[in-house]
Amino acid sequence: MYKLQANFLHLGDKEMIPNGILVVDHWGEIREIAHQGQYPSEELTVYEGILCPGFVNTHCHLELSFMRGMVPEKTGLLDFISHVIPSREAVTEEEQLLAIAEADQEMYKNGIVAVGDISNTETSFAIKARRRIYYHNFIELLSFSPQNVDKVISEGVLLLVEVPNGFGASFAPHAPYSVSPELMQEINTYNAQRGRRQSIHNQECAAENEFFQKGTGAFAELYQKLGIDISHFTPPQCNSLEFALAQFDKEYQTVPTLLIHNTYTTAEDIEKAEAIHDELYWCFCPNANLYIEDRLPNFQLFRDANVRITVGTDSLASNHQLCILSELKTIQQADPTIPLEELLTWATWNGSNALGTHYEFGRMELGKRPGILLIEDVDIENMLLKANSSVSRLF
Ligand SMILES: [Zn+2]
Repeated sequence: MYKLQANFLHLGDKEMIPNGILVVDHWGEIREIAHQGQYPSEELTVYEGILCPGFVNTHCHLELSFMRGMVPEKTGLLDFISHVIPSREAVTEEEQLLAIAEADQEMYKNGIVAVGDISNTETSFAIKARRRIYYHNFIELLSFSPQNVDKVISEGVLLLVEVPNGFGASFAPHAPYSVSPELMQEINTYNAQRGRRQSIHNQECAAENEFFQKGTGAFAELYQKLGIDISHFTPPQCNSLEFALAQFDKEYQTVPTLLIHNTYTTAEDIEKAEAIHDELYWCFCPNANLYIEDRLPNFQLFRDANVRITVGTDSLASNHQLCILSELKTIQQADPTIPLEELLTWATWNGSNALGTHYEFGRMELGKRPGILLIEDVDIENMLLKANSSVSRLF
């Protein structure tokens, strides 16, 4: 047995115990959560910093790991998409696999125990099957042409059945501007009938709302450039999120749904979305937002609305590292009023609920092995992360 003590023990679901003691076995299974004084000091291993459960990364694209450093920064989402679309042909499958293996190892080292990963192909499955990390695989579907629904769903099913056993798998619509209402509905119904969860990119750039409000702007131009006919599309004159959620059948508004990015989401969007849908999770990927759009979501709006917030890294195409602690640093730097214990809850318990892994991860609970992290070099007095705060995995 190990008895671990630090300045603070974060249990995942908000509670933070000063000088808390964690009793764990050799496998990292939690046997007891104790308070200072319950054990003599000579029995303890004492750390400076915070102990917390393993991090849950609710948004990543492992497949894009080979693109580290390839895309110029701060040029906007449309320019980013134009770099990603042709990129896969530029590298061999071996190079892709090597980059995925390195990214998987990097996340493990950075204390990530579970990931919501977007898959467009089966390329990442062999590496995931090593099971260093738990992956929920969001099989991403997209097509803005309503006549493609059956074809896209059948191709998706072929990929879905390839997901390694023991991992979560479900369909995920890419984004409101790239998925027809008919496909959106079909995906949601498919997931609802099988008790699965989904994710969708949301309001990552201003052009997305313009497309739905007026039918003009960068997305309309992109479709024209790609030669895709969108004459069937009549702008609904509302923001993209409201329109997307309205496509789901009323009885199926309960599929746990991760909304990714939310950079241009307003207080009104949040209120409307929460009124339409019962189980939304709002995922922030701040370093990717800075990389692509050079803008961050207004975190305070989401805290004021008391919604469920999670944290993601996005991919190495739009981030310099796959590290949840780095994301938390960016959020806290932008808004130092957000308490560190709340940020850690977003990164552990909330993320785990979003991925449906809360039976194993996200919280310090007796008999569980959630992964045990040590965060060091923290400004303990003010409970702030510092630029050089670091995370390591004890279990
Ligand atoms: Zn993404």
